[in-house]
Amino acid sequence: MRRIEVGGAQPYGVEVGEGLLSRLQVPQGQTALIHPADLPPQFAETVQASLCPTVTIEVPARDDCKTLEVLSGVLSKLAAANIPRDGAVVGLGGGAATDLAGFAAASYLRGVAFYTLPTTLLGMVDAAVGGKTGVNLPEGKNLVGAFHPPQAVWCDTDTLATLPDAVFREGAAEAYKHGLISDPSLLERVLSPQFRPGGANLEDTLADAIAVKAGVVTRDLTEQGERAYLNFGHTLAHALEAVTGHAVTHGDAVGYGMHYAALLSRAMGGADLTPHTLAFLKWQQPRPLPPLTFDAVMPYMARDKKADSQGVRFVLLCDLAQPYLTRVPEDVLRGAFGEWQTAVGDAD
Ligand SMILES: [Zn+2]
Repeated sequence: MRRIEVGGAQPYGVEVGEGLLSRLQVPQGQTALIHPADLPPQFAETVQASLCPTVTIEVPARDDCKTLEVLSGVLSKLAAANIPRDGAVVGLGGGAATDLAGFAAASYLRGVAFYTLPTTLLGMVDAAVGGKTGVNLPEGKNLVGAFHPPQAVWCDTDTLATLPDAVFREGAAEAYKHGLISDPSLLERVLSPQFRPGGANLEDTLADAIAVKAGVVTRDLTEQGERAYLNFGHTLAHALEAVTGHAVTHGDAVGYGMHYAALLSRAMGGADLTPHTLAFLKWQQPRPLPPLTFDAVMPYMARDKKADSQGVRFVLLCDLAQPYLTRVPEDVLRGAFGEWQTAVGDAD
């Protein structure tokens, strides 16, 4: 088992290992367990047996749970179960369910203790660390939320064995991204045949990928500086998700977006890291994209939260582990988009 510390005003630990769900202990007497409807039933049963929650609340699968309507129902169930101020909410499942559960914990009785049990690779590497919780609005994703750090995060690697192979490879995008922006030793390890459920290097690679985000979050709790680097590859990724109406999954979009960011990095004078991003795409095998034009995608990139009045800002790399934030001229964006399309078409 590995343990990673996340610092800040309210420090907590992230534990990574096998069989964690059956060994849970929390000091709070009364707990509410929240999990999505499509979770393999043995996970909820294992947690129920080890934690004895006061109430178990099932929510819709994936992003369908991240709505104000579902949140309202969850809050009513917490109240009906008389979860007290010194009780706790435990979120079990993928990133969407744990985002919702965290926001329920942040808002119920002005905030109760929260524990996260992510069961997907994406949830473990990305969503579970950082304290961001929230729901979507019809107007956009994550428009309502709060910073509400958990008391603890438990990443039980046994849960990854139930993921379809494509979902596991999709989620690896964030781990690979942490390799590019901070820990190049991860690049080879993520693409290794041993990085798979039950594989020999899964626990250590996963823990080191989580440690990158934990370090960034510890140093930059309010997202003023270094935390922006975690958005490497995400400007195009968010645009691809939006322009396709979220037909593209987040991890696939990040895989595509990292290659675009590597092309931009090279065009702006940085080292050529495209062999790395192409190797990842070849390994990840993201689902193919529909035909897209630069003019269709550009307005969505300009709407990304890293855009300001003077243009679209990108996280780029001078070299491995050397990220920086810069504005990129539109002609460079357009030129790299053409190269990206050619490469992505070939990768399909
Ligand atoms: Zn992401």
